[in-house]
Amino acid sequence: MLESAGFATVTARDGLEAVEKAFAEDVGLVILDVMMPRMNGYQACRLLKTEPATKSIPVIILTSKDQAGDRFWGLETGADHYVTKDADPQGILELVKRVAASPDARRAREPRTNSVDALYRVNELLDRKLFETTILSEIGRVTKSLVHFEETFTSVMEILTRVVDFTVGAMAFVEDDDLDVFLLIHRPAAPSVVEEAKSRLMEAIARERAGAPFTKVQARLFSQASGGAEETVLGGFAAYPVKTNDELRGLLAFGGKAAARVAGETEAFLATAANQAKIVMENSRLFERVKGLSIRDGLTGLYNHRHSMEQVAQEFGRVGRYEGGVSVLMVDIDHFKKINDEHGHQAGDFVLRETARILKDTLRVVDSLGRYGGEEFVAILPHTNREHASQTAERLRQAIAQHAFRVGSRELHITISVGIATYPSESVDTPGALIREADKALYRAKQAGRNRIA
Ligand code: GH3
Ligand code: MG
Ligand code: MG
Repeated sequence: MLESAGFATVTARDGLEAVEKAFAEDVGLVILDVMMPRMNGYQACRLLKTEPATKSIPVIILTSKDQAGDRFWGLETGADHYVTKDADPQGILELVKRVAASPDARRAREPRTNSVDALYRVNELLDRKLFETTILSEIGRVTKSLVHFEETFTSVMEILTRVVDFTVGAMAFVEDDDLDVFLLIHRPAAPSVVEEAKSRLMEAIARERAGAPFTKVQARLFSQASGGAEETVLGGFAAYPVKTNDELRGLLAFGGKAAARVAGETEAFLATAANQAKIVMENSRLFERVKGLSIRDGLTGLYNHRHSMEQVAQEFGRVGRYEGGVSVLMVDIDHFKKINDEHGHQAGDFVLRETARILKDTLRVVDSLGRYGGEEFVAILPHTNREHASQTAERLRQAIAQHAFRVGSRELHITISVGIATYPSESVDTPGALIREADKALYRAKQAGRNRIA
């Protein structure tokens, strides 16, 4: 049929012969059966589509296999078309004519110089595909076991060290005008090496991104490096952008000597792996963010009532096992209703946010601050006895009393009252009792005239 339509044809009895002939003759189009001895059509197609010398030759798979899985697998090999043998012969001829007239088919007919050891290559190819699939599925599996972003990030990067044994690896997340960068130091490296990796990363992002400059840039550094000589030069850098609809969403990058050697098939694979890695890491980030939302108060960003109570219970439980006690400060703004009444609710909200920030800045990092209710806050101070809790409460009181809250052109001054309770102590035997004691103390501070601690 093809010859009477004016085509010259070369025939092969199986996939292996087809591959060899595709190399030896100036073939412009390959039509492959699937079920053939020695090497089947899928394998032959995969090989033709991987070898640089033959990959642009259009391939039509013509087969009696007509299940969805056959078609999927056929096209997965890189075949350009998949046609079943029960198709109309005239239709097949027209497809052949169309494909043969394409630029790819014409280019494919340019002479090829090298030949191929087809069997050796197909084995190599299978092995490579298995390796790549294993890496991708391992990255995917990280999702199931890890919910903390830091763990997810370092685990995925760790898996990728099997592909590129990098010194510094990075994943960047682009979200509108925000850039979040996470770096992992995998081998001991001089600070200058890390700095160079960072600036190469920023350059790569700038190259791939069309939009305006970032308004917010955050970078976090993790280290896994231990032992061995410190790298003093970066040596190489390779970056793999992740895009949707041509827009940059992320970028996977590797710095180090090994990054300079990445080429060919590894390069192509890393482009795919970048996508998979980004999805897995992104999921973990979203999970952390959602979890953060459910324990935080929307107005102040502090922990909410429920989470604060859980923390009190947790700290209470720790006291039995470790030295030291735990103290709770119940903080209430004095005459806060007047702020709302005289300056409006928005001013009230602003004062609440500012108060939250000042209290937080005045506390230690290990202390936890929550919004207990409207204008009430609860501070949990681990490993803190009554005396130290009083000192902390006094510091909070002074910090607020000394602060000028700017509302429009006016400066407002407010005060707080603080109730303190400590465990272990006589009247406290449960986390609930600890809160109740702090509440009672706060009431006494109010009774005694406000702007004081009790
Ligand atoms: P006291 O010194 O006895 O604590 O007096 P107070 O006015 O601070 O106490 P009261 O409990 O009578 O009033 C608290 C006020 O806090 C009432 C409420 O309108 C206001 N409030 C509670 N939550 C919010 C909020 O989220 N935003 C604003 N703007 N006001 C709030
Ligand atoms: Mg109040
Ligand atoms: Mg109150």
